[in-house]
Amino acid sequence: MRPALRPGLLPLWRDRDTIQIGVDPRRGAALTGVGTAAAVIELLDGSRDRAQVIAAATELGVPVELAERMLTLLAGAGMLIDFPAATVRALPDERRQLLLPELAAASLARMDSDGGGQMLARRAAATVQISGDGPLPAAIAQVLTSSGVTVWRAPLAQARPQGERAAPPAPAFVVLTGLHPPEPVIQLLRDQIPHLAVSAGEAIGTVGPLVRPGTTACLRCLDLARTDRDPAWPLILAQLGRRRPDPPACDAVLTVAVTAQAAAQVLHFVDRPELTGPAENATLELVQPGWQWRRRSWPAHAACICCASPAA
Ligand SMILES: [Zn+2]
Repeated sequence: MRPALRPGLLPLWRDRDTIQIGVDPRRGAALTGVGTAAAVIELLDGSRDRAQVIAAATELGVPVELAERMLTLLAGAGMLIDFPAATVRALPDERRQLLLPELAAASLARMDSDGGGQMLARRAAATVQISGDGPLPAAIAQVLTSSGVTVWRAPLAQARPQGERAAPPAPAFVVLTGLHPPEPVIQLLRDQIPHLAVSAGEAIGTVGPLVRPGTTACLRCLDLARTDRDPAWPLILAQLGRRRPDPPACDAVLTVAVTAQAAAQVLHFVDRPELTGPAENATLELVQPGWQWRRRSWPAHAACICCASPAA
């Protein structure tokens, strides 16, 4: 282990004997009885292993027992990580500068003990395909790339005859911006590729549902639920495939807000695929001029071919 102070937090003195790591009490902690052992903190940059930290502290005049106590106190307060030195070293300079804030944020937001190293590896290994036109796909691609995800912008593959295998490379996840014809989306279900629907129009941003094929509500489930409430929905949907408002009612603020929410949901899935995300069986919706995203539930529909509904 190469102990490092959890990145993103600043050590600050409260008095001669008390040090506070971080400003906001929701993230940081205060340690009392620190005294001269504070010098140990300066050594926690992830460049030394534990024994080297103790040895360097001794050279600075901190007795071994005191240095060890300091490490124990910091570890007990959750302030130490095992710095992912190999992962960070392997990154080219420019990429490293871009991704260090990602690591710091992951380390704090999720209290990852490896400083976000595993998360970064997952992001680099995941290939996310983004399809659709307008400003959203490019903006979402940019945020995901900056977050360390491998992004691929391409239209959805056409539906294949049943049983025919997909030509590689197959994406691990697909982001569908705007409306898509049903056949390629059904192909995603057949190929078991998780996907996220994203749209912005009529001054409303919608992110979701995030579809785990066969497990959570799919886009067709939502259309069936809408048809239950409004029998004219299929007719309206058919017209939407051919006509769009020009210009679309999606301003710069809505574009950015939807982009951030969509990227956050993709990262939630890529980082922790075992956890249920807020956009599963749901849409997250922002209605301007409001500022608050609202979650709208969409259970899987019993009549849908995706078989996600327990009643199907
Ligand atoms: Zn369905």
